[in-house]
Amino acid sequence: MNIVLFGGPGSGKGTQSEKLIEKYGLHHISTGEVLRDHIKRETELGKIAKKYIDEGQLIPDDLMIQILDDVIEKEAKDKPGVIFDGFPRTIPQAEALNQLLKKRNKELHAVVGLEVPDDELVKRMINRGKLTGRADDNEETIKKRLNVYHSQTSPLREHYKKQGKYLAIDGSRDIDQIFDSIIKELDNHQK
Ligand code: AMP
Repeated sequence: MNIVLFGGPGSGKGTQSEKLIEKYGLHHISTGEVLRDHIKRETELGKIAKKYIDEGQLIPDDLMIQILDDVIEKEAKDKPGVIFDGFPRTIPQAEALNQLLKKRNKELHAVVGLEVPDDELVKRMINRGKLTGRADDNEETIKKRLNVYHSQTSPLREHYKKQGKYLAIDGSRDIDQIFDSIIKELDNHQK
């Protein structure tokens, strides 16, 4: 079972990923975490990524797709199922994900879309910034990230709806209620 966890910044992708991993034993790939790890280790890639992340912009598709291909090859190619958290974020990335899975004889099962209003996303990110010190969770960068989400990422909803893969989840409720809906939707989708 290969799943994409989809939603705006602060929509709860990381939190719900943890719960899904626990329940289904899936392997987790968060592209945001991969990039933050490079920044922490001060790699060449980390230096490039930091410029985009600090500006609230997306890492260019070619580079991001290459990074994902490498991560899948290194840690996920033999795994029975993967949660993609934060990827794809553009239509070209969605097309690339298809190819990356296909060349390994795998396919995308479903896209879980956590739907949360913008004002709630802002509140959550401000709060996370205070709790974790995450550098891009500041008011100015949050605004940019939301703009990027609406212009570049949200068209993926329609893209995956057309493919019958999009499962809409009301992500504004509490963590366990959201998780229950995800499980139900995934169960129904499988039948
Ligand atoms: P996230 O932790 O998923 O919120 O990602 C944090 C930041 O990393 C984003 O604001 C982007 O700058 C960058 N990033 C993460 N995933 C991607 C992706 N799939 N494509 C481009 N940039 C990404």
